[in-house]
Amino acid sequence: MTKIKVIKNILSANKNTADKNRRFFREKGILAVNLMGSPGSGKTSLLEKTFEAGAGDLRFAVIEGDLATSHDAKRIKRFGVPVVQINTHGGCHLDANMVGRALKELPLAHTDILVIENVGNLVCPADFDLGESKRIVVLSVTEGEDKIEKYPFMFKFAGCCILNKIDLLPYCNVSDERIKRTALKINKDLDFFKVSCKTGEGINRWLEWLRAKL
Ligand code: MG
Ligand code: ZN
Repeated sequence: MTKIKVIKNILSANKNTADKNRRFFREKGILAVNLMGSPGSGKTSLLEKTFEAGAGDLRFAVIEGDLATSHDAKRIKRFGVPVVQINTHGGCHLDANMVGRALKELPLAHTDILVIENVGNLVCPADFDLGESKRIVVLSVTEGEDKIEKYPFMFKFAGCCILNKIDLLPYCNVSDERIKRTALKINKDLDFFKVSCKTGEGINRWLEWLRAKL
Protein backbone atom coordinates (compact mmCIF):
# COMPACT_ATOMS: atom_id res chain seq x y z
CA MET A 1 0.00 0.00 0.00
CA THR A 2 2.75 2.44 0.97
CA LYS A 3 4.54 1.73 -2.25
CA ILE A 4 1.52 2.65 -4.34
CA LYS A 5 1.13 5.91 -2.44
CA VAL A 6 4.76 6.88 -3.02
CA ILE A 7 4.43 6.32 -6.76
CA LYS A 8 1.24 8.37 -6.81
CA ASN A 9 2.99 11.26 -5.05
CA ILE A 10 5.94 11.13 -7.41
CA LEU A 11 3.63 11.25 -10.41
CA SER A 12 1.55 14.13 -9.07
CA ALA A 13 4.68 16.18 -8.21
CA ASN A 14 5.93 15.45 -11.70
CA LYS A 15 2.62 16.59 -13.20
CA ASN A 16 2.90 19.98 -11.45
CA THR A 17 6.37 20.58 -12.84
CA ALA A 18 5.24 19.37 -16.26
CA ASP A 19 2.41 21.91 -16.24
CA LYS A 20 4.94 24.60 -15.40
CA ASN A 21 7.11 23.52 -18.34
CA ARG A 22 4.03 23.49 -20.58
CA ARG A 23 3.10 27.06 -19.62
CA PHE A 24 6.67 28.11 -20.33
CA PHE A 25 6.57 26.52 -23.81
CA ARG A 26 3.25 28.17 -24.56
CA GLU A 27 4.51 31.61 -23.52
CA LYS A 28 7.58 31.25 -25.72
CA GLY A 29 5.61 29.78 -28.64
CA ILE A 30 7.70 26.61 -28.66
CA LEU A 31 6.44 23.24 -29.88
CA ALA A 32 7.87 20.70 -27.44
CA VAL A 33 7.84 17.05 -28.45
CA ASN A 34 8.74 14.01 -26.38
CA LEU A 35 10.57 11.51 -28.59
CA MET A 36 10.36 7.99 -27.22
CA GLY A 37 11.17 4.43 -28.26
CA SER A 38 13.39 1.44 -27.50
CA PRO A 39 17.18 1.70 -27.41
CA GLY A 40 18.35 1.39 -31.00
CA SER A 41 14.98 2.12 -32.61
CA GLY A 42 16.50 5.15 -34.33
CA LYS A 43 15.45 8.20 -32.32
CA THR A 44 18.72 10.06 -32.76
CA SER A 45 19.02 8.87 -36.36
CA LEU A 46 15.57 10.31 -37.06
CA LEU A 47 16.77 13.67 -35.78
CA GLU A 48 19.91 13.51 -37.88
CA LYS A 49 17.87 12.72 -41.01
CA THR A 50 15.42 15.49 -40.14
CA PHE A 51 18.20 18.07 -39.91
CA GLU A 52 19.83 16.68 -43.05
CA ALA A 53 16.56 16.88 -45.00
CA GLY A 54 16.97 20.61 -44.62
CA ALA A 55 14.63 21.50 -41.82
CA GLY A 56 15.70 24.92 -43.18
CA ASP A 57 13.41 27.55 -41.77
CA LEU A 58 12.71 25.58 -38.59
CA ARG A 59 14.85 26.39 -35.57
CA PHE A 60 15.38 23.29 -33.46
CA ALA A 61 16.81 22.70 -30.01
CA VAL A 62 17.33 19.25 -28.51
CA ILE A 63 17.50 17.70 -25.06
CA GLU A 64 19.15 14.27 -25.08
CA GLY A 65 18.34 11.80 -22.31
CA ASP A 66 20.61 8.82 -21.70
CA LEU A 67 21.86 6.88 -18.70
CA ALA A 68 25.44 7.70 -19.60
CA THR A 69 27.67 9.30 -22.27
CA SER A 70 27.25 12.36 -24.50
CA HIS A 71 27.33 10.35 -27.72
CA ASP A 72 23.93 11.53 -28.91
CA ALA A 73 24.53 15.18 -28.02
CA LYS A 74 27.72 15.05 -30.11
CA ARG A 75 25.77 13.66 -33.07
CA ILE A 76 23.26 16.52 -32.82
CA LYS A 77 25.94 19.19 -32.38
CA ARG A 78 27.37 18.33 -35.81
CA PHE A 79 24.29 19.96 -37.33
CA GLY A 80 24.79 23.19 -35.41
CA VAL A 81 21.62 22.52 -33.40
CA PRO A 82 21.74 23.65 -29.74
CA VAL A 83 21.68 20.58 -27.51
CA VAL A 84 21.87 19.66 -23.83
CA GLN A 85 22.72 16.15 -22.67
CA ILE A 86 21.06 14.83 -19.54
CA ASN A 87 22.63 11.74 -17.94
CA THR A 88 20.20 9.97 -15.63
CA HIS A 89 22.92 7.75 -14.05
CA GLY A 90 20.73 4.68 -14.03
CA GLY A 91 17.33 6.39 -14.24
CA CYS A 92 15.21 4.76 -16.95
CA HIS A 93 13.17 7.84 -17.98
CA LEU A 94 13.31 11.63 -17.99
CA ASP A 95 11.09 13.59 -15.62
CA ALA A 96 9.71 17.11 -15.81
CA ASN A 97 12.23 18.44 -13.30
CA MET A 98 15.23 17.27 -15.34
CA VAL A 99 13.74 18.93 -18.42
CA GLY A 100 13.00 22.15 -16.51
CA ARG A 101 16.65 22.41 -15.46
CA ALA A 102 17.95 21.67 -18.96
CA LEU A 103 15.78 24.46 -20.41
CA LYS A 104 17.98 27.06 -18.74
CA GLU A 105 20.90 25.98 -20.91
CA LEU A 106 19.17 26.37 -24.28
CA PRO A 107 18.67 29.50 -26.43
CA LEU A 108 14.90 29.17 -26.34
CA ALA A 109 14.17 32.71 -27.49
CA HIS A 110 15.34 31.44 -30.88
CA THR A 111 13.66 28.04 -30.95
CA ASP A 112 10.54 26.84 -32.80
CA ILE A 113 10.71 23.14 -31.96
CA LEU A 114 12.24 21.57 -28.87
CA VAL A 115 12.80 17.83 -29.22
CA ILE A 116 13.22 15.97 -25.95
CA GLU A 117 14.73 12.60 -26.75
CA ASN A 118 13.81 10.37 -23.85
CA VAL A 119 15.82 7.47 -22.44
CA GLY A 120 15.44 4.42 -24.70
CA ASN A 121 12.63 2.51 -23.00
CA LEU A 122 9.08 1.49 -23.97
CA VAL A 123 7.81 1.37 -20.40
CA CYS A 124 7.92 4.20 -17.85
CA PRO A 125 8.61 7.23 -20.09
CA ALA A 126 4.89 6.84 -20.90
CA ASP A 127 4.03 7.68 -17.25
CA PHE A 128 6.08 10.86 -16.98
CA ASP A 129 4.60 13.98 -18.50
CA LEU A 130 7.42 16.39 -19.40
CA GLY A 131 5.16 19.27 -20.40
CA GLU A 132 5.33 18.32 -24.08
CA SER A 133 2.48 19.00 -26.46
CA LYS A 134 3.12 15.93 -28.62
CA ARG A 135 4.50 12.47 -28.02
CA ILE A 136 6.28 10.65 -30.80
CA VAL A 137 7.16 6.96 -30.64
CA VAL A 138 9.79 5.46 -32.90
CA LEU A 139 9.47 1.73 -33.48
CA SER A 140 11.72 -0.23 -35.82
CA VAL A 141 10.73 -3.22 -37.94
CA THR A 142 13.52 -5.27 -36.30
CA GLU A 143 11.70 -5.11 -32.94
CA GLY A 144 9.00 -7.48 -34.19
CA GLU A 145 5.27 -7.13 -34.69
CA ASP A 146 4.10 -7.57 -31.12
CA LYS A 147 5.65 -4.58 -29.38
CA ILE A 148 2.65 -2.30 -29.72
CA GLU A 149 0.37 -4.82 -28.03
CA LYS A 150 2.95 -5.57 -25.32
CA TYR A 151 3.66 -1.91 -24.52
CA PRO A 152 0.31 -0.28 -25.29
CA PHE A 153 0.60 2.82 -23.07
CA MET A 154 3.47 4.21 -25.07
CA PHE A 155 1.27 4.16 -28.19
CA LYS A 156 -2.09 4.98 -26.63
CA PHE A 157 -1.05 8.52 -25.71
CA ALA A 158 1.22 9.27 -28.66
CA GLY A 159 0.37 11.72 -31.44
CA CYS A 160 2.55 10.02 -33.97
CA CYS A 161 4.24 6.67 -34.49
CA ILE A 162 7.22 6.36 -36.78
CA LEU A 163 8.02 2.91 -38.09
CA ASN A 164 11.74 3.02 -38.85
CA LYS A 165 14.15 0.76 -40.77
CA ILE A 166 11.64 -0.09 -43.51
CA ASP A 167 14.66 -0.76 -45.75
CA LEU A 168 15.08 -3.94 -43.65
CA LEU A 169 11.53 -5.22 -44.25
CA PRO A 170 12.63 -7.82 -46.83
CA TYR A 171 14.87 -9.40 -44.17
CA CYS A 172 12.43 -9.33 -41.24
CA ASN A 173 9.50 -11.60 -40.72
CA VAL A 174 7.05 -8.74 -40.12
CA SER A 175 4.35 -6.88 -42.01
CA ASP A 176 4.48 -3.08 -41.88
CA GLU A 177 0.75 -2.95 -42.65
CA ARG A 178 -0.06 -5.28 -39.77
CA ILE A 179 2.02 -3.14 -37.41
CA LYS A 180 0.14 -0.08 -38.62
CA ARG A 181 -3.26 -1.76 -38.12
CA THR A 182 -2.33 -2.76 -34.56
CA ALA A 183 -1.16 0.77 -33.77
CA LEU A 184 -4.39 2.28 -35.03
CA LYS A 185 -6.45 -0.25 -33.11
CA ILE A 186 -4.82 0.95 -29.88
CA ASN A 187 -5.00 4.62 -30.82
CA LYS A 188 -7.25 5.59 -33.71
CA ASP A 189 -5.97 9.19 -33.71
CA LEU A 190 -2.36 8.15 -34.17
CA ASP A 191 -0.58 9.48 -37.25
CA PHE A 192 1.56 6.70 -38.64
CA PHE A 193 4.67 7.12 -40.80
CA LYS A 194 7.00 4.59 -42.38
CA VAL A 195 10.56 5.79 -42.74
CA SER A 196 14.08 4.63 -43.30
CA CYS A 197 16.70 6.70 -41.55
CA LYS A 198 19.23 4.91 -43.73
CA THR A 199 17.83 5.80 -47.16
CA GLY A 200 15.85 8.87 -46.12
CA GLU A 201 12.57 7.42 -47.42
CA GLY A 202 9.51 8.95 -45.74
CA ILE A 203 11.44 11.64 -43.85
CA ASN A 204 9.77 14.48 -45.72
CA ARG A 205 6.26 13.34 -44.80
CA TRP A 206 7.20 13.25 -41.13
CA LEU A 207 8.78 16.68 -41.42
CA GLU A 208 5.56 18.02 -42.95
CA TRP A 209 3.63 16.58 -40.01
CA LEU A 210 5.94 18.35 -37.58
CA ARG A 211 5.68 21.62 -39.47
CA ALA A 212 1.87 21.39 -39.42
CA LYS A 213 1.90 21.12 -35.62
CA LEU A 214 3.60 24.49 -35.20
MG1 MG B 1 19.51 8.27 -28.99
ZN1 ZN C 1 11.79 4.76 -15.64
